Amino acid sequence: MKFIVQKFGGTSLVNDETRRMAAKKVIEAKNKGYLPVVVVSAIGRMGDPYATDTLLKLACDGNWELSPRESDLLMSCGEVISGVVMAATIQKEGHPAVFLTGLQAGIITDNNHNDARILKVNPENIIKHARDGKIIVVAGFQGATENGEITTLGRGGSDTTAAALGVALDAEWVDIYTDVEGIMTADPRIVSDARLLEVVTYNEICQLAHEGAKVIHPRAVEIAMQKDIPLRIKSTFSSAPGTLVTSRGEAYKGSIDITRDRTITGITYISDITQFRIPMDGCGDTAGLQRRMFEALALAGISIDFINVHPDVVIFTVKNSVAAKAAQILENMGLRPSILPDCAKVAAVGAGMTGVPGVMARIVGALADEKVQILQSSDSYTTIWVLVKKKDMEKSIRALHRQFGPGEKDIERR
Ligand code: ADP
Ligand code: MG
Repeated sequence: MKFIVQKFGGTSLVNDETRRMAAKKVIEAKNKGYLPVVVVSAIGRMGDPYATDTLLKLACDGNWELSPRESDLLMSCGEVISGVVMAATIQKEGHPAVFLTGLQAGIITDNNHNDARILKVNPENIIKHARDGKIIVVAGFQGATENGEITTLGRGGSDTTAAALGVALDAEWVDIYTDVEGIMTADPRIVSDARLLEVVTYNEICQLAHEGAKVIHPRAVEIAMQKDIPLRIKSTFSSAPGTLVTSRGEAYKGSIDITRDRTITGITYISDITQFRIPMDGCGDTAGLQRRMFEALALAGISIDFINVHPDVVIFTVKNSVAAKAAQILENMGLRPSILPDCAKVAAVGAGMTGVPGVMARIVGALADEKVQILQSSDSYTTIWVLVKKKDMEKSIRALHRQFGPGEKDIERR
């Protein structure tokens, strides 16, 4: 059985016209001899009637204290609605279709409500319906525990569902359909001349996704990579081939090493973060204090990032949403942090930068030309990060994109 998994994001399902375009992609795959398994996100984005954020706002507006179990039940409705609507759209185009919830599709997760991990997939039900000649539509972003409790998979969960089904069904492809042409060298909403990356390796896209390129969730890439299931990121609204995500071996087959040609693969960003600078001078037992401080933050479940520990100061960032809680913990310990909210972390990502001298000089130079102040920086062998004020974020991304022209030397492979 030649399965193909096709995942459609919220903007691809927002109205009857876009849903018909999505259904066309599914029917084209069927006509090519594949058995399509369609994974759907909730309809639309924030503000649209059945989007996940809108369902959550219902609870917020009502000021309800929903348990994680109940909020999963509420959130999982979005994908049930869009799945039923999508199956009906495909049927209307003359092809038998059936809708399955995550539970019915055999997606078994742990019981970590709101951010559950897929433990295994029992694909028997999907295979049975495929044998009956049906196109299967599966609710993304949800699964169930062994006991049948409904869970959700956290942000980007529908991408994860698609990758897990791709692995379980040994699919020929997992296609992620969205509102952009594929993975670009920067978010096209910010950099209008961002270029399409035609072929990227699993590792490259994982790095980009971890650093904020939200076009695909990193967990989905990691799952697909386990069994070498190729991913394609494409637009629902065009017939362009999009981005192929594949293993190193496949990417270089019959061609030159693409990563050697690009120092920087892409520019990414994560916004809405707060910087803490905590002076340590005059504290006596600095090491003991630093240890208690990091332990207290961890105990409160606060994830910290961009950490620099110096003898006289500790610097780190947290998400804006937990900044007040972090400040309270530090102040309770008698510390006097200076707090800078509304920052953004901009990253230049590329496996090809390893050992290339002068990358940091170019970053500092490009940002200085734009009069952007770098608040902090850090690097690994594939990524250089800078922290800037959020008001400077877009101009920083554009400046770095201009400086490096990422993707420029990509080679045409298909
Ligand atoms: P979907 O609802 O289809 O899952 P997402 O909003 O999750 O869509 O992802 C698509 C969006 O990702 C695009 O609209 C684009 O603004 C954003 N994006 C951020 N970085 C990149 C990038 N490097 N390449 C392509 N898109 C990106
Ligand atoms: Mg998405």
